[in-house]
Amino acid sequence: MLTFTLSAEELRQQGAESLFVEQQRLSELAARPGPHTVENFLGPLNQILVSVRDIGAHAGLMFQAHPNAETRQAGRELSEAADRFFNEFRVNETIFRAVRSIDLGGADPETVVGVEKLVRDMRRAGVELDLPRRKQVVELANQIDRDANEFAANIASADRGVVVDGPDGLRGLPPDFLSSHRPGADGKIRISTKYPDLFPVMAYGADAEVRRRLLREFLNVAFPENLPVLDRLLADRSEFVHLLGYPDYAYYAVEDKMTGRPRVVAEFLDRIAKLLDAPARVDRDRLLARKQKDHPDAIDLEDWDGRLWPGGYYATKIREEEYGVDTRRLRAYLPYPAVRNGLFDLCRDLFGLEFRPHTSTPLWHPSVEAYDVERDGVPIGRCYFDLVPRSGKFNHAAQFDVRTGLSGNGLPQGALLCNFLSEQAPPEETRMEYRDVVTFFHEFGHLLHHLLSGHGRWLYTTMGFVEWDFIEAPSQLFEEWARDPATLARFAKDPDTGETIPSDLIARLKKSEAVGRAFAVLRQVFLASLSLEIYSRDPNGLDPSRLFQEVYEKRMGVPYNPDYHWIASFGHLTGYSAIYYTYLWSAVIARDLLTPFEAKGSLTDRATAERYAREVLTPGGSRPAAELVRRFLGRDYTFDAYQRWVLADSTPS
Ligand SMILES: [Zn+2]
Repeated sequence: MLTFTLSAEELRQQGAESLFVEQQRLSELAARPGPHTVENFLGPLNQILVSVRDIGAHAGLMFQAHPNAETRQAGRELSEAADRFFNEFRVNETIFRAVRSIDLGGADPETVVGVEKLVRDMRRAGVELDLPRRKQVVELANQIDRDANEFAANIASADRGVVVDGPDGLRGLPPDFLSSHRPGADGKIRISTKYPDLFPVMAYGADAEVRRRLLREFLNVAFPENLPVLDRLLADRSEFVHLLGYPDYAYYAVEDKMTGRPRVVAEFLDRIAKLLDAPARVDRDRLLARKQKDHPDAIDLEDWDGRLWPGGYYATKIREEEYGVDTRRLRAYLPYPAVRNGLFDLCRDLFGLEFRPHTSTPLWHPSVEAYDVERDGVPIGRCYFDLVPRSGKFNHAAQFDVRTGLSGNGLPQGALLCNFLSEQAPPEETRMEYRDVVTFFHEFGHLLHHLLSGHGRWLYTTMGFVEWDFIEAPSQLFEEWARDPATLARFAKDPDTGETIPSDLIARLKKSEAVGRAFAVLRQVFLASLSLEIYSRDPNGLDPSRLFQEVYEKRMGVPYNPDYHWIASFGHLTGYSAIYYTYLWSAVIARDLLTPFEAKGSLTDRATAERYAREVLTPGGSRPAAELVRRFLGRDYTFDAYQRWVLADSTPS
């Protein structure tokens, strides 16, 4: 059973013991004489790998979420030990030879795919190198994992913010924000760079100076401590792939993705950038024109006006004034319990899932919720919601696998680590920002994918092993239900007045989403370009900060503020490395996945939803992503739906 309340010492000890047992099992398995078969070799190997992956997943959760700093540290160490186990395993040539000797003549397709992916993973880790080089790649891989964790930990532990001289500096912010940010004894109010403070201030704060200062702090999170970590990471990754015979890390990172080659990614990003030319100009002109109403002599937008910030101040103003959408008013209809229960109801209607509170396992923090998930009365998994920010906790939003889930080996479990809810009020009383509701749905889309796919036979055919540039398609598709009028109307109710969100407000909200959209996508294009570019360069003599500035100015078409050190908190540079483009590539697919629902005229068409779950989510990584999509659409996906979306409503109404 999974326990989340271990002390640092207990976690260390239990983790070390469990890893030792798995190490023994692996040695025994490697020593087993042939002939090797699916039953006598692959099955036991799979068990070992899943166990170690789950030790690492549990430890990783403790590292990212445990309130106790010592336990977080122990979680980090254990997670790195599990990574080291995998790094060693992947270059174990005895195992490799045994796996390759297995006769797959009578095996089912899932098993064949599982073995293919396992073999490719071991090859890409260096199993075919000579012994001295194998030692080198393992050492480098271990160092890379350590550095990636350090990079993440530095971002999570950042404690930046600004001090505002009294409530006047927070003009424009909603009343519930003001009531949870009262002045201290000295009359001053501290605003942190954590999301529940940052997003409202950037969207509503009328005081441009406060927005400027807060954005500057935010774009200096983990600076300067992450710069040397990044230098090491780039150098080690470069050395790692050179030992394997690849020209650069980007080439390596992209090789097993849908795109296959960095060139394909670069052309894809150029294509989107070109598509954005006209709508981004419209965005700029509209936002600037609105700014000039307040500041007639303004000649350009500043970063804190919303150029660099999706959902920024002037986009919010335009939505209010031209579309009648006051997102502060929207908060009234979005109390957290209603949103959460709305999600559960939606999953019942779409996929026949039931979420029941799980109370028998002690959790790592009192604000965390757990739910057992059932379909037709049969348990299919468990999920955890940890949505309140805390010091030292993961400070972005993501789904973390807690347990893999395989047929005959326990059910999948996943945790949403997000920061939507206020630290100052109980979760049940917190109202959500609409943009956070969309993010909640996004992360929930990952969770569904995990819960529905975690019933296969092999670790290497689970969701974690589908091409990574597909992984953001189910999540981005699921965001659409948070934008669906019929779905919103069901749960968005103001508990104080009993009033349901007015349908014309939802219609205007949907239309208003075009404001600032091109800027938001352009920002993604920039980050994706940077991620690809930084891993395509020779790290010798590379100044990452300078490259960041160059790529920023090329893509965004405006100067980069030298006061910012945004690169230090760009957390995706570790896990996603060169493939931040994943979000955009997956968005293109997600837009097309939406078309069968649109053809039915309803996002809540049960038959389409069930077919989507069956063809796209449930198979996990057991089929190539393009085939999952083809089975659902009945054709290959295209760029068309995405292009229509980028250009839709991009001129003022
Ligand atoms: Zn995602």
